[in-house]
Formats: sequence, C-alpha cells, structure tokens
Amino acid sequence: MQLTHDPTDLSTAHRLRRVVVTGAAGFIGSHLSRALLEAGTTVVGVDRRHPQRDPLAAANLAELTSFPNFVPLTADLTTCALDPVLLDADAVFHLAAIPGVRPSWGPKFDSYVAANIQTVQRIMTAATRLHIRRVVLASSSSVYGATDGSPSRETDRPAPLSPYAVSKLAAEHLCLAHAARPGTATEAIALRYFTVYGPRQRPDMLIHRVLTATLGQTSLSIFGNGLQQRDFTYVDDAVRATIAAAVAPVASTVINVGAGSSNTITDVLNIAHQLTGRPVPALRSAAAAGDVPATLADITQARDLLGWKPEVALIDGMDRQLRHLKESG
Ligand code: NAD
Repeated sequence: MQLTHDPTDLSTAHRLRRVVVTGAAGFIGSHLSRALLEAGTTVVGVDRRHPQRDPLAAANLAELTSFPNFVPLTADLTTCALDPVLLDADAVFHLAAIPGVRPSWGPKFDSYVAANIQTVQRIMTAATRLHIRRVVLASSSSVYGATDGSPSRETDRPAPLSPYAVSKLAAEHLCLAHAARPGTATEAIALRYFTVYGPRQRPDMLIHRVLTATLGQTSLSIFGNGLQQRDFTYVDDAVRATIAAAVAPVASTVINVGAGSSNTITDVLNIAHQLTGRPVPALRSAAAAGDVPATLADITQARDLLGWKPEVALIDGMDRQLRHLKESG
C-alpha cells in the first residue's frame, strides 16, 4: 500500500492530542517526547529513573520539563497502576526496556524479563481494555540474529542470538497476540530499530564511546576485529518513523527502522578521526557473545507503510553528536 500523505512530516503529530511515552527519561524516549511536545501533543512521560538520583535521566528530562504539555511520572511499569496513566491516550509509545546485549547473559536476566516482556503484557492488557487506538513498541534489529550482511526483511525468520534479543522478539509477539484478539480495538506496531545514535546516546553504545575517546575523556575498547557492520540510524530519523507509526493507516505489524546502509566499526573510527583531526586510540578485545557480525535493514516496508525515509547520513549525525558532547562538556 502506498501512502498519499506524508506521516513523517512532524505536523502529523498534531493529530495526536495526548500520548504516553514510556522510557521518557531514556535516550530515544526523550527525543521522541520532545518532538511530540514541540508539535503540541500532551505527553505523559513515564520512567522509573528518578532525575534527582540519576544524572543521565536528569539530562534527558531537562529537554522536556520546560514544556507545559509535559506530564512527568516516575513509576515502575512492572508494578504501577496503569489505567490512570493510559486513560484518554490516543497512543502509547512503549520504549521502556533494559537495552544492551552483553549484560543480558548474566544474572540480570530476570530484570530483562520483567522490564522487556512483563511490562508489555501489562501495557497491552490495559491498552486493549481502555480501547487505546494504537501501541507502538520499540523492538530491535537484534531479533534477526546472524545474517550474511544482506538486508533483513520483516518476513525473514528471526533467530535471536542473545537473551536480550529473545526478550525483544517475545515483546513483539506479545503485542501482536493482544492486538489479534477478537474484538480488540487496539493496533500494535513493533518497530525494529537498527542501532540508533545521536545526542545523548546511551554511554554504553559504540558511537558515544568513540566520540568521548576522541575528546580524550575515556579510553576505548572495541569488541572484535572492527569489521562488524552496523546499520546506524540517526535518532531524529528514528523519531519521525516512530511518530508515523502511531498515525499511519496501517494494521498491526512489524516494521524495520534503519538507515538502509551499513558501515563497519572501523568506518566509525575513521569518521571520528576525520571530524576531530585526532586518531582514536582503541584497544581490541574479544568479540562478545550475542554480538552479530552484521546488521542492515530493508526499509521498503517503512517507506511503503509509513511514507518514511531516513535523511541523516552517518557523518552528519556523528558531527551533531560530537557537537552536542562538546557543548555539554
Ligand atoms: P534507554 O536505556 O536510554 O531508555 C530506556 C528507559 O526505559 C530508561 O530510562 C529506563 O529507566 C526505562 N525503564 C526500563 N524499565 C522500566 C520500567 N520497568 N518502568 C519504567 N521505566 C523503565 O534505552 P534507549 O537506547 O533509549 O532504548 C529505548 C528502546 O529502544 C528500548 O526498548 C530498546 O530496547 C530499544 N532499542 C534501542 C536501540 C538503540 O540503538 N538505542 C536499538 C534497538 C532497540
């Protein structure tokens, strides 16, 4: 189905009167909330991180608190009452989760299950009961597992290679199962984000670690031989796709959100060198379990269903992230 309108024009967010964003104190959730707030949407932003105890959450929320239409809520979605939070929302953006592949192997797996799966069950149960029109879930390219480097399509058989990736695939299926129940008015769109980067990126992520190392703030350790390929998606592009997923005339489904091109980790180091004029001193360590050799999105479905296409090239997005890092000291 080709769209005749352009839902990625952020003015379409005006059609969203009131929404809930979970994970609003996180990296992507804070960018998404800000874009919605700028478009005039009332955003109920839920996160369990308390800005007074968590400097990263405080920095992310600082982008939002000056908006009169922002309603912050510090709550844990595994236990809090959800009906009062979701009531009267046009859409729920469920981004809250524990991200990161490597720690998911360890004893924290229980918390991955709670944050990444049980919250989905609770939100879908409440959203369907309250007849919320749409839930947009943050899923992940990691559900595809190892590929030969060719573009991953939504119809490919998922083969997750880490407990984190399994939790995201379970979350997708849970959303879609709720949405498929007879008589359900709620649609669910699961977005498979491919490595999102940009200002305020999580400190454990590659581009943040590379850029802070070039600024001389940290040492850099690279997992593997540097030839792993990643489809890097600029956060503003991911946000436009996410808003489009809440308003586009599309039935419940899964959609890739990526740049549709891939770069190696060595490319990232070279771009950082080019932007700063400084080489990046990197220590190599063994490849980590669950890290896949390549990710690359086929973004045909995002284009056809959401009318979306990525706009920011890696060098430009890294430049914006670098400038933000310099400004924030
Ligand atoms: P983030 O850690 O910055 O944000 C996630 C937020 O969710 C955090 O602020 C955390 O406190 C909150 N949260 C977790 N469990 C919660 C709970 N039980 N109750 C309330 N709040 C809770 O992560 P991010 O990078 O912004 O990722 C956002 C979403 O996108 C996640 O679902 C992640 O799995 C997914 N994703 C991210 C990427 C990426 O490249 N950043 C790629 C693929 C998928």
